[in-house]
Amino acid sequence: MKSESEMTILVIDDEQNIREGSQRILSRMGYRVLTAANGQQGLALVQAQPVSIVLLDLKMPGMDGMEVLTHIRLFDPEILVIVITGYATIETAIEAMKKGAYDFIPKPFEPDQLRIVINRARERLRLIDETRRLERERERNLADLGTEKSRIRTIVETLPNGVLVTNVEGRIALMNPAFRWLMEIEGEVPAGAPVESCIAEAGLLQLIREVSKGKERNGAVDAKYEFAVGEQKFLQAIAKPVWSESGECVGAVVNLTDITTMKLLDRLKNEFVAKVSHELRSPLSTIHEQLALVLRDMAEKESSRDQYLLSRAKEKTQGLISLIGDLLDLSHIEAGNVCKDRKPIHLAELLKNIVDFLGTKAKAKRQRLDLELPPEPLPLIEADPMAIESIFGNLITNAIHYTPEEGAINVRVTLEPGDEATTAAVTTAGVKSNPWIRVDVIDNGFGIEERHLENIFKRFYRVKNEKTRFITGTGLGLPIVKGLLDELGGRITVQSVPDHGSTFTVWLPLCQE
Ligand code: ADP
Repeated sequence: MKSESEMTILVIDDEQNIREGSQRILSRMGYRVLTAANGQQGLALVQAQPVSIVLLDLKMPGMDGMEVLTHIRLFDPEILVIVITGYATIETAIEAMKKGAYDFIPKPFEPDQLRIVINRARERLRLIDETRRLERERERNLADLGTEKSRIRTIVETLPNGVLVTNVEGRIALMNPAFRWLMEIEGEVPAGAPVESCIAEAGLLQLIREVSKGKERNGAVDAKYEFAVGEQKFLQAIAKPVWSESGECVGAVVNLTDITTMKLLDRLKNEFVAKVSHELRSPLSTIHEQLALVLRDMAEKESSRDQYLLSRAKEKTQGLISLIGDLLDLSHIEAGNVCKDRKPIHLAELLKNIVDFLGTKAKAKRQRLDLELPPEPLPLIEADPMAIESIFGNLITNAIHYTPEEGAINVRVTLEPGDEATTAAVTTAGVKSNPWIRVDVIDNGFGIEERHLENIFKRFYRVKNEKTRFITGTGLGLPIVKGLLDELGGRITVQSVPDHGSTFTVWLPLCQE
């Protein structure tokens, strides 16, 4: 708001004493005052410099006040015009007010009357100023909000990843163009539409619904789901719940990434590993057999040092053959070439055979290896028998390897009625609520420190410590077990206490009725 000295008041009156009197009073109030003796002069001053208030005599020779008023209003409607009227011209004053004059003061007037009228006008100007300032502020806030919103919108719209935001009921709050494009959704999707209206992929829908409601998926930080769109496109969805300040789940944000290239590279890598492994397997097996022959023939003839060296070479080739076998198994699993030959299986029979077969190995370490079956007959499971053999073969062999001599290994089979198994699982594929068969492979061996537990299912990961140093292995057994269970729709978890033992628990889904 301008101060008095920054405001100019123009007095237009043909009477000199009114001009001078007003000038004196107003100057004392602190205003800058200009005077004009007629309408023309007054208008010229108004046009030449900024004027806030005009005191205008209505009755003047030449251009009369009413005409001057009209011109001033036309030139700058924000100037406040106060008309000065004689006793007889009250009607004229009213007319002037109708034409846009702000106030009037009858002539002759006392200094106090003038001060009151001018103060009122000044207050009016202050209010106008204040209103304008608030208006500007509001506009700026709106503009700021607008830019912030449009900035975020632009970022989301131009992201190469698909973004979907849903509310707690799984209704769409936002879907960016990349999401529509990746999912091959045609046209705009209206906000508020249910996700089912444009997404058909059942697994993705389930993920979105669960996360939108704030359900943690198997305790995982990020709930992930991979799926294919058509034959050539592979996508990965990662969903996170959105929490309000009061801790309630208000919906979910789903991030969609195109992982086709990664999948392709993975496939190429698998093919390469499979090819190299395949090429190496036969010559290595030949070398191994020949070393065995040489070792048999040289008995007692050669020095024990030569025998030792050749035995080491034979052991190492055996290690390489196992590694190649495991690599080939993994490649087959990853190429989706296993578990195709599913048939109903009597798990009890199969486990008895495996335990019998590995019993010799356990006996060699003077270990107990027991199979504990439930009293009631087990329902059938639908699986590839080779896969089941591989899963339990690996787990029981590990238990034998990582348990000292005279230890005990127990394979316990139970029937799990419900779905609780799913929440504790470490590795998953699909979500099922059918009953399960649960198999615990329990040993009282070396155990595994907690920090290694999340890694032992990764390829080539081996826990190296004083106790395991001399145990040969490839670090591929558990990844194979996990891969097979994923294929079968089963699960595996592990619990372990160092120096007390480990329990690997496998859940196998039953045949669908
Ligand atoms: P490998 O046995 O060939 O090393 P695995 O993938 O089967 O590879 O196992 C990975 C690691 O997990 C092993 O090196 C071992 O340290 C640990 N492990 C697996 N099973 C057991 C077990 N029953 N007890 C203790 N450690 C185990």
